[in-house]
Amino acid sequence: MNFDYTPEQVELRKTVREFAQAEIAPQVMEWDEAQTFPLEVIRKIGELGYMGTIFPEELGGAGLGYIDYSIVIEELARVDPSVGLIVAAHTSLAANHIYSMGSEEQRRRYLPRLARGEWIGCWSLTEPEAGSDAAGTRSTALRQGDSWVLNGSKTFTTNAHHADVCVAMAVTDRGAAQHGISAFIIDKDTPGFRLGRKENKLGMRASATGEVIFENCRLAGSQLLGRQGEGFVDSLKVLDGGRISIAALAVGTAQGAYDEALKYSKQRKQFGRFISEFQAIQFKLADMAAGIEAARLLTYRAAWMKDRDQRVTKEAAIAKLFASEVAVRVAGEAVQILGGYGFIKDYRVEKFYRDVKLCTIGEGTSEIQRLVIARQLLK
Ligand SMILES: Cc1cc2nc3c(=O)[nH]c(=O)nc-3n(C[C@H](O)[C@H](O)[C@H](O)COP(=O)(O)OP(=O)(O)OC[C@H]3O[C@@H](n4cnc5c(N)ncnc54)[C@H](O)[C@@H]3O)c2cc1C
Repeated sequence: MNFDYTPEQVELRKTVREFAQAEIAPQVMEWDEAQTFPLEVIRKIGELGYMGTIFPEELGGAGLGYIDYSIVIEELARVDPSVGLIVAAHTSLAANHIYSMGSEEQRRRYLPRLARGEWIGCWSLTEPEAGSDAAGTRSTALRQGDSWVLNGSKTFTTNAHHADVCVAMAVTDRGAAQHGISAFIIDKDTPGFRLGRKENKLGMRASATGEVIFENCRLAGSQLLGRQGEGFVDSLKVLDGGRISIAALAVGTAQGAYDEALKYSKQRKQFGRFISEFQAIQFKLADMAAGIEAARLLTYRAAWMKDRDQRVTKEAAIAKLFASEVAVRVAGEAVQILGGYGFIKDYRVEKFYRDVKLCTIGEGTSEIQRLVIARQLLK
């Protein structure tokens, strides 16, 4: 076994960390308060190659793997989890669905601009009545001659209101259950495609989450993504990779909260001593650090396997479950260590505390991760 990052990965971490400090940190609270989507910064991340970290260079990507991708997401989340989420949904859901299941023509048409961040992608599986039970999709796609006609609506789509390209799942054969759902690529200016409500959220407020609506939205036959009827099964494979990025998002968020709490504990004095001298605070810091380290190892192990084309259904779900639950605890303890100041928006832990909860919900709740893991164990 080898736990070392390569020199290139060490350099990558340094580059993303410096970028996040310089370009993101000064604006984080402003974006959060106003729910501003940081388009300019996303374009810059694209110029650096990190909107397509995992895609080959000939398709506009950085030609790197999931370990590198996890480093990118972790370092962005350490400063602003919203930015990490925007990049993760774009990369491992929308763009990766096209990369993994798309035809050569679809890859060439969409990947280069997505990977360079010139286009933003969103991925729509969830519906108002089909959340954890995503196979309960109600949106439909009817074949009419050479075209597909989509009707229905999707909820909670990350990046929806800023996306140029949407990958969405719709029922093409109601009788075929899980094998009757297909994936489609929709360009934002397709007639019949429109955006609905944009959600007002607890956290991750700079990442737009919203509704996508199809009203007799007519697509050319060539917009079918992957095999007809296999869109749901393909989505589960896409989510295996996506969950590694949500685990990395959780690790980065936890690290950001822990860093603030550690620093504060060495500056704040009560009873004539720094609070870091109290064993109660030391034990909190120790538990936080232990949790983060374990979560990071699980995340990078899943990423390492994915880079070797191994199946990661169980490992990605374990990493996502563990990292997100740890991160929620770490952010809570960080607020506790800052006392009243942890509750105030001038200190960054307040925002980490709000943002982190999404990690136990998005791309499958913790309960669903347990179902996925148990299914693999009992197979
Ligand atoms: C900020 C944000 C961004 C998102 N981005 C996207 C996106 O880009 N694309 C997309 O498609 N979706 C996205 N989602 C949707 C997300 O994946 C769903 O919210 C999630 O899968 C849960 O679905 P639900 O909200 O309908 O909850 P429900 O499925 O209604 O679950 C409610 C509760 O019941 C539990 N539960 C449900 N079924 C079971 C079961 N069988 N056993 C035990 N417990 C169960 C759940 O764990 C949860 O605690 C996003 C959500 C949010 C909040």
